Amino acid sequence: MSEKGRIAAIKGTKDILPQEARKWQRVEVTAKRIFELYGYREIRTPIFEATELFKKGTGETSDIVIKEMYTFKDKAGRSLTLRPEYTPSIARSIIEHRLHLQPDPLRFYFIGPMFRYDKPQKGRYRQFHQMDIEVFGEKGPAVDAENVEMADYLLKALKVNETEILINSVGCQECRPSYLKELKEAAEKRRSLLCEDCQRKITTNPLRIFDCKVETRRETARDFPMIIDYLCSECEEHFEEFKSHLDSYQINFIIEPRLVRGIDYYTKTTFEIISSKLGAQDAILGGGRYDDLMKLFGGPDMCAIGFAVGMERLISLVPHSKVSENFLYLAFMGDEAQRQGMALARFLRQNDIECWMEYKERSLRNQMSRANKLGASWVLIVGEEEIKSRKYQLKNMSTGKQVEVSQEDIIKVIREFS
Ligand code: AMP
Repeated sequence: MSEKGRIAAIKGTKDILPQEARKWQRVEVTAKRIFELYGYREIRTPIFEATELFKKGTGETSDIVIKEMYTFKDKAGRSLTLRPEYTPSIARSIIEHRLHLQPDPLRFYFIGPMFRYDKPQKGRYRQFHQMDIEVFGEKGPAVDAENVEMADYLLKALKVNETEILINSVGCQECRPSYLKELKEAAEKRRSLLCEDCQRKITTNPLRIFDCKVETRRETARDFPMIIDYLCSECEEHFEEFKSHLDSYQINFIIEPRLVRGIDYYTKTTFEIISSKLGAQDAILGGGRYDDLMKLFGGPDMCAIGFAVGMERLISLVPHSKVSENFLYLAFMGDEAQRQGMALARFLRQNDIECWMEYKERSLRNQMSRANKLGASWVLIVGEEEIKSRKYQLKNMSTGKQVEVSQEDIIKVIREFS
């Protein structure tokens, strides 16, 4: 609370005001259309879940679980967490509703808020929004490439240019243990040069050392062994085929051997799309495979892949396009005119015509100037004369032309013009 008793938004959260919300709506409509073109269907799950779900899914050693979760006890003493990411909720939902036993493809999308108690900065919030894509039960690398291709198409459709696609493989249960042994040894030798957090990661989660948040210490990991050189034949083949599918799509990519992603469950493919226009937090979206997650939750042995788009970051890159308002302003004089005006407005709205009325007492002149200022396309005047004759004055604000119309004619005139 500020000194004057005013209550401000919580640090790390922000309001999306109507002007900006229009842009959000446009992005969401485009994204939903594209996701559905690839056979994805929307799924919605609760904002909070049992804390256990994220501990198990996101991973006990991930930064999200260690430092960033909004966890609280409810009145019955249960430990709940505001979701920091979406994948564990979807896995839970599939298992709970036995969706894998149905014939529908397991392709889901979701759009909504996430919560992470992270240090707020440009492009990093405590409540932020993601669009999430998940495919379950597709083992081959073709779907990995299709995910990247869809993300690329989405960005192009939204006119977000100058992006880079980074890809990597983080191996699997077969090849990762021997690699981690080598990585730990290398990190141990350079222990004193690592930041405090990364020193802890040597034993808890060495792969995550490549994600070091301390810029001055990040260089230390430059010459550490990289997972890409230790892949087993299955992971190697998967990665080669993934790349060759991207080539067939004519999609350019960069292999980034340090792209390990911040969540514990990834296997094989990982990818990110970044933009240099974003500054330090440059990832617009990121994802990868998680073939072991369903098993971990006691579900079927079912592989999966997906990605999450950061909405705030994406929207900051989408160019503004002026949305021209197209509405009718209904001006009236007196109580009876208001009553008839309200009925008319109802009729117009039910016929798909956006209609604004303001119920403050204002002169006709005043209402005309309001309509002008607000950018109305049409003004409909309902005065004493009009009530009696049931004929109204309809003014086209762009041509200045005014015509007398009946209720039905209003719609005809407007439709003919547009
Ligand atoms: P992640 O779930 O960490 O893989 O993140 C996926 C995407 O979500 C990132 O590429 C970012 O665009 C976005 N993102 C992650 N954390 C935040 C945050 N704290 N604030 C805003 N966007 C975020």
